[in-house]
Amino acid sequence: MIVHRTSEALKTAIESARQLGHTVGFVPTMGALHQGHISLMETAKLHSGYTVCSIFINPMQFNDQNDFNKYPVTTESDITMLEKSQADTLFLPLVSEVYPDGTNQLEHYDLGYLETIFEGKYRPGHFQGVSQVMSRLLKIVQPDHLFMGQKDYQQCMVVKKLLELIGMHEKVRLHVCPTVREAGGLAMSSRNLRLSAEGRERAGIISTALEFTKEHLQPGDLSGQMAKGRQMLTDKNIEVDYFEIADADTLLPVSDWNGKQRLVTVVAGFVDGVRLIDNMILNP
Ligand code: AMP
Repeated sequence: MIVHRTSEALKTAIESARQLGHTVGFVPTMGALHQGHISLMETAKLHSGYTVCSIFINPMQFNDQNDFNKYPVTTESDITMLEKSQADTLFLPLVSEVYPDGTNQLEHYDLGYLETIFEGKYRPGHFQGVSQVMSRLLKIVQPDHLFMGQKDYQQCMVVKKLLELIGMHEKVRLHVCPTVREAGGLAMSSRNLRLSAEGRERAGIISTALEFTKEHLQPGDLSGQMAKGRQMLTDKNIEVDYFEIADADTLLPVSDWNGKQRLVTVVAGFVDGVRLIDNMILNP
């Protein structure tokens, strides 16, 4: 695996791979890699001749400076994991490489209501930051395939919208890959590194509550099921931002289910000050 720190070097490497007839698969990350990220790399390998992973902790997508300061950095073990996964290239840029003209005048993207619900509502500016870094990375890498995790359900929808906004939706195929979980059900996340052993165990209730909602899904009023899910989390001292059932295709809230519409439960909450998110499709 070759590590590139500049976009020029990365572009040259990608151009050479293209000349050899390879398609390009891209897995953007913020590092502190775990098996969830590696599963994206493995899927990327299946679909593309040349795979690029990026590690960049994007300052623009943190609405909470403390969260940014505490974001785990494990570059050495990340490189070891990526080498094992047979990634061809790691792009490891500095902030000045991604935002050469600074961060004051970055483009604003019209993401519509996606920016005002769930993560958009609780993390103001987050999806603008995601869009800014993704548009920059996509323009550098110009991938054929883009691999992202269902773990960040709303982010996948934002990136789908972004691809349209920047006119790359016909060129880039977005693959939404399944969430990889710990043995107890907790969705793998770089932020899990900040949990104590006790917090990690308690956080297991998040996926239990999602499963419970899925098992008890009934047509009609869903408010009781959402309240039950929230209660399961608060009983374990998890401070809940939201636990909501929404339309799986639009993410618009659904209060009364007709028994057919595809649904997803989305959840966000704090375990010992660490913000975790998860989701589950209720009727695949
Ligand atoms: P992050 O480093 O958290 O920005 O994540 C980089 C990519 O990995 C995003 O597309 C995430 O959705 C994906 N990802 C994170 N956690 C998981 C997981 N547990 N399973 C599958 N994909 C994941």
